[in-house]
Amino acid sequence: MSDSAIHHSTEQLREWDKRHVWHPFTQMQDWEREDSIVITRGEGSWLIDSDGKRYLDGVASMWTNVHGHCRPELNEALKAQVDRLEHSTLLGLASEQSILLARRLAEITPAGLDRFFYSDNGSTAMEVAVKMAFQYQAHRGRPERTRFITFHNAYHGDTLGAVSVGGIAIYHATFKPLMFETIQAPSPYCYRCELGCDNPATCGLKCLAALEALMVEHGASCAGLVIEPLIQGAGGMLVQPPGFLRGVRELCNRFGLLLITDEVATGFGRTGRMFACEHEGVVPDIMAISKGIAAGYLPLAATVTSEEVYGAFRGEYAQLKTFFHGHTFTGNPLACAVALKSLELFESDRLLEALQPKIARLTERLAEFSRLPHVGDVRQCGLAAGIELVEDKATKRAYPWELKTGVKVCLEARKQCIFSRPLGNTVVIFPPLAITADELELLMDGLERAIRVVTAD
Ligand SMILES: *Cc1c(COP(=O)(O)O)cnc(C)c1O
Repeated sequence: MSDSAIHHSTEQLREWDKRHVWHPFTQMQDWEREDSIVITRGEGSWLIDSDGKRYLDGVASMWTNVHGHCRPELNEALKAQVDRLEHSTLLGLASEQSILLARRLAEITPAGLDRFFYSDNGSTAMEVAVKMAFQYQAHRGRPERTRFITFHNAYHGDTLGAVSVGGIAIYHATFKPLMFETIQAPSPYCYRCELGCDNPATCGLKCLAALEALMVEHGASCAGLVIEPLIQGAGGMLVQPPGFLRGVRELCNRFGLLLITDEVATGFGRTGRMFACEHEGVVPDIMAISKGIAAGYLPLAATVTSEEVYGAFRGEYAQLKTFFHGHTFTGNPLACAVALKSLELFESDRLLEALQPKIARLTERLAEFSRLPHVGDVRQCGLAAGIELVEDKATKRAYPWELKTGVKVCLEARKQCIFSRPLGNTVVIFPPLAITADELELLMDGLERAIRVVTAD
């Protein structure tokens, strides 16, 4: 019998994990001391560990899961494809599933975005977007447009190009010498507004005015602007005020920058519409999609663009206008087959419709949270939310990060069979879109109890 078919004890698996696996975004010294949970199975909104204990997946397995774990139709689509073709390259060959998926995606992405450059994760989709925008400007006779406007608190992935356009100091500062410079605009983070505003309804969006000032000064040297539309996810679930994205689109038009939207977290229904930019009637020039694309089954991503951008790369071979970029597993047939079936399920389950009452219920539950003594701010965008915990509500004084308050809340929630992972002192709610109404109540009850216990004075 092969090693993978033998049933190993939890103790054995934990020991090997601690000896061999280096976990991402994890202080391994802490990890080595913990009794880690080893997941061996999944079912709907639940993850099941090696002892058979069930955990509600409150973060949709790093924001990827859509229809629940081990959904039979998706499993069948994957099994059917693996018996036909597991992988074939897109370098020099076309492949059936990647064609069918691109055609289907063209029907649901914003009008005019009909070209799909595949890769396999969100960071690469953003690397592609940045390189594409840069080379596009050169091809269009604007080689002086080399820079990018980005936002504080932005997150676009962990490869160096993606880190360069990011804006979270704690993740990114270490690598500064390796990064290219960008022009950073203030984050539209209304609870802690960098410009000193306290009400987005009356401030007239000073953050847009600040962006405009940056464009006046630097716009002519910029290839594009990079933004997470509607909500900065990893930065703390920071929801932008209405009209912000539309204003950004107008400024990009006025100053000749390509608008690059990173829909890696927001795409595929998370905000209540298929893509976040639909809420503001905005069509970007380049859009990155990944996390939910293959329903959380397999790594897949695409950088989506218009005919105008695509067309700039067409030319005679010797002109060297080719986009010299590509990844080995580009357009993987297994991932594409699952993604196609996932889009079918969006239709047959009427998933976006079914989502609306859950989003409304989440809004109600969050209003209750905001009355808790250490909840400073609650932020929601569709079925994504953040609850920012503060030491002092009146002054908005944050808990010192070393206290790991967010982590403590998640460890407490675990006692009630909820798996969650915080962003600093912000508790995250990001369940599979197919979560049932009852499961959503369980999730919110568990998090509320955990917050009460950990923040009790
Ligand atoms: C997760 C994420 C990424 C990076 O995706 P990876 O697949 O982890 O490389 C990029 N942008 C946003 C907005 C994300 O949430």
